[in-house]
This record gives sequence, structure tokens and C-alpha cells, in this order.
Amino acid sequence: GKARTCNVVNVCAVPDRGLQECNIAILGITGSGKSALTVKFLTKRFISEYDPNLEDTYTSEEIVDQQSVVVKVMDTADQDGPVNCERYLTWAHVFMVVYSIDNRSSFEGCQQYLDVVTLHTKGLQLEVPIILLGNKLDMERYRQVSKADGASLASRHGAVFHEVSACQDFDAVQRVFHEAVRAARRE
Ligand code: GDP
Ligand code: MG
Repeated sequence: GKARTCNVVNVCAVPDRGLQECNIAILGITGSGKSALTVKFLTKRFISEYDPNLEDTYTSEEIVDQQSVVVKVMDTADQDGPVNCERYLTWAHVFMVVYSIDNRSSFEGCQQYLDVVTLHTKGLQLEVPIILLGNKLDMERYRQVSKADGASLASRHGAVFHEVSACQDFDAVQRVFHEAVRAARRE
């Protein structure tokens, strides 16, 4: 019948290894741009005002290296730094720790997140990849954190490091999310 034909078509459209899942937790202090980056990745748009207390997990089906993956992004909103972290520590396949390059205290704040994540993953069999992101690259004129400082912090935690801007080019933001998927696949 008709339904059967549809099924056959669907089966053919599914890539060889089927759907995988990748849980990405976005961490960092309030104001670093976690929600802006998340929204940019999901919608290609920059939303300049986003409720700073809103924490949510979003799902997007992506194709990374010709393979489908269901990407879940937890846009966290800790009120007082890394407390009650279990919800993301036990959930994430990869962590994205964000600071803004124009705010030194966001850089210091993100070190606490790196410490919490590193402490958690040390005890695990699997290595959970970490991507350190210096956001607000468009604010270069007001830079308070050098690229070298970001890179050296990342390397101390075995993390990958990038600088991006949530309000500029979509491709660069998409690239870091896709890199997160790749890093999680390797583990
Ligand atoms: P969160 O608390 O980490 O989720 O931060 P938000 O995403 O809410 O962003 C905090 C503030 O920084 C908002 O006013 C955003 O408009 C702004 N913002 C976020 N990303 C960027 C960016 O890449 N460049 C600039 N100039 N502002 C940004
Ligand atoms: Mg937010």
C-alpha cells in the first residue's frame, strides 16, 4: 500500500549509521553570551536581549561530516557560579565554556567552570572534551583578555580554544558547534 512505499523512501533517506546524539552543555558566567551563541547556532540570528535566568535545552538535527546527529544544547543559567552542576556534568558529551573577551571577570569566572568540569571528568573512564570559547570577538577594541591568555588557559585544561562572536558570521559559530560534535564522536 501507500504507507509501505513511504517507509521504503524514508529508510533510503536515512544515512548508513542512523541518528546519533550529542549533548552539548554551554557553561560560563551570566553575560558571557551563552544564550546568544546558542540562539545563533539554532536560528542564524543574533538576539541581543535574552532572559539571563532562562535555562533550557534545545534540540537540532544536524549533518556533520555527512552524518546525521541530534544535537542537544543545554544553555545553562547558573545564578551563582558552578553550584548544583550534576544536571549538566552527568548529561554532557562535550562542554563549551564561554567567556567574553571584553570582560576580564568573565574569564576568571570561566576558570571555575573549567575546574569543576576537569575535576568531574578526571574520575571518568571516558574523556569528555572541552571547548573554551572567547566570545564577543566583535568587541576587539575593548578587549581585556588576550588571545594568548585564552589559549594558555585552554591548554592547561586540555581544551580546544576559539574566539567567536555571536553577532557576526553564522558559519564561525556553526563551525565550533560542529567541532564539538566531532570531538564528542572521537571519545
Ligand atoms: P548569557 O548570560 O551567557 O546567556 O549571555 P547572553 O547571551 O544573554 O548575552 C549577554 C549580553 O551580551 C547581551 O546583552 C547580548 O546582547 C550580549 N552579547 C552576547 N554575545 C555577544 C557578542 O558576540 N557580541 C556582542 N557585542 N554582544 C554580545
Ligand atoms: Mg543565558
